[in-house]
Amino acid sequence: MTESDQVVRVMTNDHSFRVIVACMTGSAREVLARQGVRGLAAKALAELVTGTTLVRETMSPDLRVQGLIRGAGGKGTLVGDSFPDGSVRGLAQLRADPSAFSLGKGSHLQVMRSLINGGLQQGIVDVGEAGGIGEAITQVFAESEQIAAVAKIGARFEQGELVACGGFVVQLLPEAERATHAIMTQRLEDFPPIDAFLEQDTFGAQLLIDELVFGMPFTELGRSSLRFHCRCDESLVLSALSSLGRDDIQSMIDEGEGLDIHCDYCGKDYLIAVERLRALLEAS
Ligand SMILES: [Zn+2]
Repeated sequence: MTESDQVVRVMTNDHSFRVIVACMTGSAREVLARQGVRGLAAKALAELVTGTTLVRETMSPDLRVQGLIRGAGGKGTLVGDSFPDGSVRGLAQLRADPSAFSLGKGSHLQVMRSLINGGLQQGIVDVGEAGGIGEAITQVFAESEQIAAVAKIGARFEQGELVACGGFVVQLLPEAERATHAIMTQRLEDFPPIDAFLEQDTFGAQLLIDELVFGMPFTELGRSSLRFHCRCDESLVLSALSSLGRDDIQSMIDEGEGLDIHCDYCGKDYLIAVERLRALLEAS
């Protein structure tokens, strides 16, 4: 039995490294189910949701991080969306042939973090050239965040079903001592592929932490749970609606039909009745 979805943050006692590990099989599985996505795109989406969560965990606690991948040749777009409270959701917009989705050269990862006051910062890297989503995120850290960090992410499927998903970030801190730095660099070079951990029955955040900081005294900084959750409650829908022009709303009322809004993230449908539309118009 795999552990429940969580992220664990630790720091080595000499303040050389911070290690963040996320195990999110359950929430990624829910993301894939809501999107009805399979194959390579499913693996990429599960890894993307994990990657955005890992990026968010390296940052200040009130940031939301979104990751967007445009597949090679423009054949589909994936979105991972990670919120400060540990909730995640994702989106797959694939063309007519979903199996054409590819992370080859020309596929781009864009990571956006929103600040509380609405500001946005972002970095873009070529996933194909980087060699994978974890590697692309490593590059985002280096280029956009000026953070020396290594990220590895993986998702394992059995008969088309996601059975394990997770990853880690090892971040070099400014106070790192040279000796410890050398040990960790070597360890990461020799580190087994993440798939070797995903295959184990005991796969989870703890297993990765134990391997990554093996033999190094460390302190746990915190752990928090992760879960699938979509934030499209009706008030969000209404606020999206209020961005429509008065004329648009008026014509919907005139036609006597409510407005159907579908959430692409979770699949929920909202019907905004004519009376609500009329009230909205009168209030604005
Ligand atoms: Zn939703």
